Amino acid sequence: MIKERLFTPGPVPLPPQVIKALGQQIIHHRTPEFTNIFLQTREKLQKLFNTDRDVLMFASSGTGAMEASIVNFFSENDKVLVINAGKFGERWRDLAKTFRLQVIDYQIEWGRTYDKDKVSEIVKNNPDLKGILVQHSETSTTTLHDLQFLSQISSSLEDCLLVVDGITSVGVYKVFPQEIGIDILVTGSQKALMLPPGLSILYYSEKAEKRLEKSNLPKYYFSVKAESKKQAKGQTAYTPAINLIIALNESLNLILEEGLDNLEKRHSILAQMTREAMKEIGLKLLSESPSNSATGVFTPEGIDADKFRKDLLKIGIRVAGGQDHLKGKIIRIAHMGYFDYLDMIEVISAIEIALYKNGYKVDLGKGVKKAQEIYINSV
Ligand SMILES: *Cc1c(COP(=O)(O)O)cnc(C)c1O
Repeated sequence: MIKERLFTPGPVPLPPQVIKALGQQIIHHRTPEFTNIFLQTREKLQKLFNTDRDVLMFASSGTGAMEASIVNFFSENDKVLVINAGKFGERWRDLAKTFRLQVIDYQIEWGRTYDKDKVSEIVKNNPDLKGILVQHSETSTTTLHDLQFLSQISSSLEDCLLVVDGITSVGVYKVFPQEIGIDILVTGSQKALMLPPGLSILYYSEKAEKRLEKSNLPKYYFSVKAESKKQAKGQTAYTPAINLIIALNESLNLILEEGLDNLEKRHSILAQMTREAMKEIGLKLLSESPSNSATGVFTPEGIDADKFRKDLLKIGIRVAGGQDHLKGKIIRIAHMGYFDYLDMIEVISAIEIALYKNGYKVDLGKGVKKAQEIYINSV
């Protein structure tokens, strides 16, 4: 018997408290009982974002909240800059184009982050920019993009919104939109929030709120105005993802009990253990600006990463692979959510075994030892 351990950057393993909440009989949503849970959950989301502003929940995967960010806050022909550094950057671009925005597609080599001078230059030549669209953590390349610089740039323009896909950064980092200067922040349930897929979340700033009246793009299901009115009173315009909201209430308890400082620190150590172990074994990391939500690493020359993933699965570890031109070249190991230090030791150990079996020269235990040392020095 081999146990399958999930180390993919979405979906992620579920904590027992969440599984328990999901295993209950459904309740009806037009009841005081549900309203009460909904409002509790909403308040906890506001704590997660350190805000008292509106935070909306939609029954959709993360992309739904991304679409809501476009259709509610922009109009046809609005010019936006997309920081396109991977698969999810492409999604911002494609979404914006679908709704007929004018897109400046700033393409960045996968594994790298944006160049500040280049962004400044684009902005200087396009003072009419209505939005900057970015991933905080670009999951496809396991790269973190700095938001502070983009927030400064965006607020220096007359009417520009900073729109952030925080789907794999919320719950890994403290992402406080008002402090950072984010105008629209979206996240989804199946990443660091430790839930099954099906729920997306959207925060918007006061500056963004002014756009709601102006936006002329078609929208029906993803209407921020309609949801905002309902959700403030503990109801939703359409049938909500009842069980997922009940489970989110539980996962937010876990997150808030741990505390956001501790949560950020734990993820930082998990990621550091993994990155340093990979380097110690002699493997090359994908990202020059690595995110703590997942680590992307190249398999050695001559070992196909997708075959290597199958080898890992035989030992009981499921990791993700690369997309597009990185397919067969990298594996991605998740750290976000319900993971602790020994989980990382497990995955590092399995990687050493699989490398050894593939004939790669590896001193067994070398990466594990490195990770143990980091644990001892940091916890
Ligand atoms: C997972 C993910 C999404 C959302 O994808 P869905 O499949 O729609 O949930 C968007 N952006 C990033 C960075 C992600 O990691």
